[in-house]
Amino acid sequence: MPERLEQSAAGRFDTVLIANRGEIAARIQRACRELGLKTVAICSEADRHAPYGKTADSFLCIGPSTAAKSYLNQDAILLAARLAGAGAVHPGYGFLSENAAFSDAVEKAGLTFIGPTASSIATMGDKISAKRAMIAAGVPCVPGPDTALPDDPATIEHIALEIGYPVIIKAAGGGGGRGMRVVPKADVLHEAIALTREEARKAFGSPSLYMEKFLQHPRHIEIQVICDDHGNAVWLGHRDCSMQRRHQKVVEEAPAPGIAPDIIQPVGLACVQACLQIGYRGVGTFEFLYEDGAFYFIEMNTRLQVEHPVTELTSGVDIVQAQIRAAQGHGLELNQGDVTCEGHSFECRINAEDPETFLPSAGVVTHLALPAGPGIRVDTHIHAGYKVSPYYDSLIAKLIVHAPTRAEAMTRMREALADTEVEGISTNIPFLRALFEDDAFSRGETDIHYLEQWLKLRRAA
Ligand code: ADP
Repeated sequence: MPERLEQSAAGRFDTVLIANRGEIAARIQRACRELGLKTVAICSEADRHAPYGKTADSFLCIGPSTAAKSYLNQDAILLAARLAGAGAVHPGYGFLSENAAFSDAVEKAGLTFIGPTASSIATMGDKISAKRAMIAAGVPCVPGPDTALPDDPATIEHIALEIGYPVIIKAAGGGGGRGMRVVPKADVLHEAIALTREEARKAFGSPSLYMEKFLQHPRHIEIQVICDDHGNAVWLGHRDCSMQRRHQKVVEEAPAPGIAPDIIQPVGLACVQACLQIGYRGVGTFEFLYEDGAFYFIEMNTRLQVEHPVTELTSGVDIVQAQIRAAQGHGLELNQGDVTCEGHSFECRINAEDPETFLPSAGVVTHLALPAGPGIRVDTHIHAGYKVSPYYDSLIAKLIVHAPTRAEAMTRMREALADTEVEGISTNIPFLRALFEDDAFSRGETDIHYLEQWLKLRRAA
């Protein structure tokens, strides 16, 4: 038997095409190499000099800089996979990672999609059907109907009154903090719906909207799960991602501070049950709002998340390797009893953006100094001389720390941020340094609205 077939028979693939860019492309490539798998990196014209291209077994340029013509171009990606002899495609996060049609196209091309099946993505990727599936699995959701908003204005007004103002209008296919609008009172309801519907149609290709209660002071708490193809699923503890600007996460931590094990335990188990019920495969995250001691499901992310490292550091599980192994058809290597979470971890998203205005900052990194030492991890693809492109998300690095206690982890992050130097472009590092000096954040008492209020106060001062 040729060598390649022999290798494939051990798993279901031996070469992985990484359909992404930036730090996550580098992170996935490392996991593949550690598992003895060959890698195919792809790039747009803007990313031709990406460092992970040099360390991949194959590196193919699949199109122009605009994401729509490269990282979102399904045909180009599948062609690259065929040319490079890939047996699997890892979508990373963003881009095509939650696109059910892409998962389907990959499998139809005879390749393995490293993620859930198209039907799981379709069910859980649509926020309305996810809500319905979670209600069926006995998981509490934010008050509001589990159906799309009708067109009839009177019925919409009635739904809002039943829920009680303020309400939030959300796109069923929304993501990345977009396609959401808070409605404080009745007189702006219809305008908010019209604007959000138009936005949803343009950005997510579907005008489907739903409405729920806008919670006033919740925290964002999420549960990481991992499932195999053999009916096993575990949850790997919880994270707090309440530090948000414009509904987008800025700092994440694990575990969520001050949540007693007996409160979170049933929620984790319900997530596992929901996975088993829908036959979920691979990694996923259940996101909840937590207010006054109660959890309310908001959505599931059917992919690897930006903040997965904080769970890796507390649980000791390499989530990307586990995800790839599950896609190869291997059974999980651990059961729930084996999962223990130790210490505390923080992640800071380092973005190429102005620390005051948050406007993206493109250009060449002229100097880079990264922190190192016990309990410090940096996930990045940049180096001195790297050109930050204006075409994509501004995330250039993730700084992650781990220490025995939350207070020690905060100190470690302060020191790590002090040691981080990026010159040539603007970054949000000064803003992150200031945030890690904040008293309420140090005490773990902040909700999802805190950061916006903190920024307002700073601007006013
Ligand atoms: P996305 O898919 O764009 O990330 P999510 O549904 O996960 O959207 O919500 C993102 C953030 O928006 C949440 O973490 C929270 O801060 C805020 N949010 C969403 N739903 C509500 C709600 N019902 N009440 C208050 N805030 C909400």
